[in-house]
Amino acid sequence: MKNGFHNSGTLYLLSTPIGNLEDITLRALRVLKEVDLIAAEDTRKTGILLKNYSITNRLTSYHDYNKEKKAPWLLQELKSGKSIALVSDAGTPGISDPAYLMVKYTIEEEIRVESIPGPTAFVSALVVSGLPTDKFIFEGFLPAKSGKRRKRITELSDEKRTMIFYESPHRFLDTITDFILILGDRRVCIARELTKKFEEVKRGRLSKIREYFETSKIRGEIVIIVEGRL
Ligand code: SAM
Repeated sequence: MKNGFHNSGTLYLLSTPIGNLEDITLRALRVLKEVDLIAAEDTRKTGILLKNYSITNRLTSYHDYNKEKKAPWLLQELKSGKSIALVSDAGTPGISDPAYLMVKYTIEEEIRVESIPGPTAFVSALVVSGLPTDKFIFEGFLPAKSGKRRKRITELSDEKRTMIFYESPHRFLDTITDFILILGDRRVCIARELTKKFEEVKRGRLSKIREYFETSKIRGEIVIIVEGRL
């Protein structure tokens, strides 16, 4: 009996850096070396990380477009006693990425799932935002279509807790405009390219933030933190 869960292996949800390759734990590096297989959302990106730490191990892809097909195969590997590290594009697997499906299936099969903690973009953004951190909600990505996005923001308009969103650069200004129209001119923090060379954290009212980014084109990866209703 291995780990009290039949003879199957373990699925490790292994957090990787969100930009700076130094942001990885000693345990994560050891597990990456020791597992039988690494299932990565982006094998090229994970390959760079492994190379940086001179880790050679089997890599396979597991992403949004192949997850339904790949999960049963990964489950078979786990059942045969192999251990797998599931690694996302960046940060913590399961946070706005395809890991959830694999976790669900693995638990259904009563196979052990273990977290190897590390960075996740929204926590780093929240703690530098200057907005209340005692109570918050994580919304992930808002809907891409403007009608659905506005509907969701409207549903959130009475939310008192600090609100955290992931956003892509090309939708950023539309989302900020929708926030102003629906929520009013609240305090906000934009955390961009955290831990990377062009890291930028901008704090202020939504209207000022919109003015600023209307003139300087926004790029890279972005977390938006919005003050809850006062
Ligand atoms: N699993 C990741 C995590 O733990 O944060 C999130 C994956 S999600 C597909 C990618 C989004 O996370 C980006 O669009 C951006 O909103 C946010 N993100 C990831 N890295 C970031 C960084 N270095 N700075 C700011 N936001 C980041």
